[in-house]
Amino acid sequence: MRRPGLDVPPRCEQDWRGPGAIIGASHMPDLPTSSASAAPHASPPPDPAAARAYARAHLRLSLAGTGVDLAALAVFVFSGASLALADGLGRWPWADWTRHSPWLLILAYTLLFGAGLKLPGLPFSLASRRLENRFGLNRQGWRGWWGDQAKGLALEAGLGLLAVELVYALLRAAPALWWLWAWAGFLAFVVLMAQLAPVLLFPLFYRFRPLSPDDPAEAELITRLEALCARAKTRVRGVYEWKLGDKTSKANAALAGWGATRRILVSDTLLGDAPAEEIEAVLAHELGHHVHHHVWQGLAVQSVLSLFGFWVANRVLLDLAQRLHLSGIADVAGLPLLLLVAAVLGVLLLPLGNAFSRHMERQADDYSFMAMGRPEPLIAGLERLARRNLAEVEPPRWKEILFYSHPAIATRIRRARAVQTPSGS
Ligand SMILES: [Zn+2]
Repeated sequence: MRRPGLDVPPRCEQDWRGPGAIIGASHMPDLPTSSASAAPHASPPPDPAAARAYARAHLRLSLAGTGVDLAALAVFVFSGASLALADGLGRWPWADWTRHSPWLLILAYTLLFGAGLKLPGLPFSLASRRLENRFGLNRQGWRGWWGDQAKGLALEAGLGLLAVELVYALLRAAPALWWLWAWAGFLAFVVLMAQLAPVLLFPLFYRFRPLSPDDPAEAELITRLEALCARAKTRVRGVYEWKLGDKTSKANAALAGWGATRRILVSDTLLGDAPAEEIEAVLAHELGHHVHHHVWQGLAVQSVLSLFGFWVANRVLLDLAQRLHLSGIADVAGLPLLLLVAAVLGVLLLPLGNAFSRHMERQADDYSFMAMGRPEPLIAGLERLARRNLAEVEPPRWKEILFYSHPAIATRIRRARAVQTPSGS
């Protein structure tokens, strides 16, 4: 579940089972292990009880965090705290400035309100780290962890401030159609980020390295990917090693970027662990996202959902502004209300977005079977992923429908087994 605020990342990342997944983990009951996985370094056998416990704790933490965020926003809106904060700031010694420039008042309000909103989330971030430690998945020390938190916060504060100032400038300049302009601006931002995230944002948190043709193992992967691309009559701009291993023992892969920044990312935790054929099946899955234009489709779906969101936000603001004693819809004291609408819609629309995402993941899996000529390599890769990531392989159906951006691993494996491609054996 996403935190409210500006955390609306573009669907540029079609992960293998990745950072987009809200409920990361999953359990693994009696799943027969594929004979195809003759790994160079065999992973330890899965522990279904541990995976189930991890998944439960993860879900509880995620739901509690979202609940606290929503509650904090609701308290700000309906207790009068937001109004008091905006009023107080308007009466401070700098009142003369803020009277002339709403920008300053909005800046001061957003910083203080943002701090008040972020603080209740900190215990959940700490608990999440403790959970990863308890199940032996975390590899990041305190220094790196706090560094990542600080970078994330700075980024959120910078982008958040910019977004709030722009939205309120629109609310003042075009009270009737602000929501349409804001939506257009939001879309432009999402499209820009889809393109820039792999070169601007991801490197803030992770290191990347293009696979090297000088390394025999990596050269083989490059050759296999080139063959896959040649058969698909397409190309990607590069394959990068994604250094996850100093933060987590989990594995992941993703298709990221757009145009010149389009690339496939494969975590070092997967590259160093899986045989070439399995990695090729993962690359084929990522290529499947590209061939099916999933970045475009994701953007299209997001644009429709966000248009609806901005329209609802406008309706709610018009309906409640007077009742909440706001001086008008452009009163910055209404900001928590806008965020509350966004957060509630985010929760309500999550199952819809996830259903669409699972549909794209099925297509990418199918592409991998087809491109590889048989499903076994992908099955082996999925089983390795389940072991490494302590995944709940067969979650309850309701959990999959509500929270999973990817089909459950058991579902994906069953689907793979059902596929008998003509050349398969
Ligand atoms: Zn995928």
